[in-house]
Amino acid sequence: MKILVLNSGSSTQKSALFELGADSAPDQAAPPLWEGRLEWDGGKETLSLRTAGGKKIQAARETPSGGRSASLRAMLGNLWTGEAAVVSSPEEIDLIGHRIVHGGARLSEPVVIDSEVTETIAGVAEIAPLHNQSGLEGIQMAEALFPGRPQVAVFDTGFHRTLPPAALVYPGPYEWLERGIRRYGFHGINHEYCAKRAARLLRREASRLRIVTCHLGNGCSLAAVAGGRSLDTTMGFTPLEGLMMGTRSGSIDPGILVHLLRQETASGPGLDNILNHRSGLLGISGVSSDMRDVLQAANEGNPRAKLAFDIFVHRLVTGMAAMTASLGGVDAIVFTAGIGENSAEVREAACARLGFLGIELDPEKNRSRQPDDLDIASADSRVRVLVIRAQEDWAIARECVRLSPK
Ligand code: ADP
Repeated sequence: MKILVLNSGSSTQKSALFELGADSAPDQAAPPLWEGRLEWDGGKETLSLRTAGGKKIQAARETPSGGRSASLRAMLGNLWTGEAAVVSSPEEIDLIGHRIVHGGARLSEPVVIDSEVTETIAGVAEIAPLHNQSGLEGIQMAEALFPGRPQVAVFDTGFHRTLPPAALVYPGPYEWLERGIRRYGFHGINHEYCAKRAARLLRREASRLRIVTCHLGNGCSLAAVAGGRSLDTTMGFTPLEGLMMGTRSGSIDPGILVHLLRQETASGPGLDNILNHRSGLLGISGVSSDMRDVLQAANEGNPRAKLAFDIFVHRLVTGMAAMTASLGGVDAIVFTAGIGENSAEVREAACARLGFLGIELDPEKNRSRQPDDLDIASADSRVRVLVIRAQEDWAIARECVRLSPK
């Protein structure tokens, strides 16, 4: 079956086409036939296309006036026309899968989309206004481009449906819980894949493993996974809680917000902008939200970049230790996503401070640049440390096949 996956982020729109059979294993991703990526930065839009045949195309232009939907429609047209085409017509697409950020309290398992599901996804806007809009636009677009084709929604919050009450409920007034103000957790699609993949790489039963998965990209979160189930995670009601991120603060004393509001130096939207877009690596370093730039500046002696790196690692380490406490011990650590997969410095700094848990890296393996998933712990390390490529889109495609009405 040919499955098209739409994965919309705040400033990117990714899409990938996979060919998958019903027999594909849940812990071994395969590369896509075609990948498209749109990125918006200021007034500029960049389109990148890549095919399994090795064709790469990149084009930048002024952001067109038709909005995100028009850009997405144009990108998908490249599936069947032009140099990077891999199918002869839209009819060849069997299923469409969507990453939906927030399932709210009612949606967690992957589902085939019908009008009721769409309404529920839209209804989540009441608790998370910023999260699902681009996903809904993608669903509408797919209905128009691929009429009658089944569509599946996979939720970033879904894997964390097993959080125990003590990890799920905020210690505010009890009525918050009744209003849906509780912890949901995010990045679940990748946390789940990484936990399954770790079990396969270690040749161990998932049911007997305690794993801390570290998803460190532009957004960063940790999950505590035991027996394949999420027992704790660092993101909460929104993807703002927890670790320091590229432009997001992660957890801070909520009293700071009250202080700023009381002083009237910030409003609601102002606070949202500060915490989501002007904090984190960017806010502290003043250099960039990109870990590569922060590391380079730190190595050149920029003290704020060094501080940004140190805070990032400090919060990562204390978060990993907290996840380990939730699990009552740890057998494996997984590093995944842009920083987790590529930054030997971050992995080394974090693991060095967690030696007391029985974690020891093999420095050469940690620094090796292998495209494959790899165990980078020393032979004697009691805890295994794995680097696993994030495979969100493939995991969504697999859920589509699993739920396929055919
Ligand atoms: P997203 O969450 O948007 O999918 P990614 O998973 O691609 O993001 O992660 C982006 C982050 O990965 C950026 O902070 C980038 O600096 C970081 N990154 C990518 N390559 C490297 C590298 N070689 N060293 C350190 N950080 C890296």
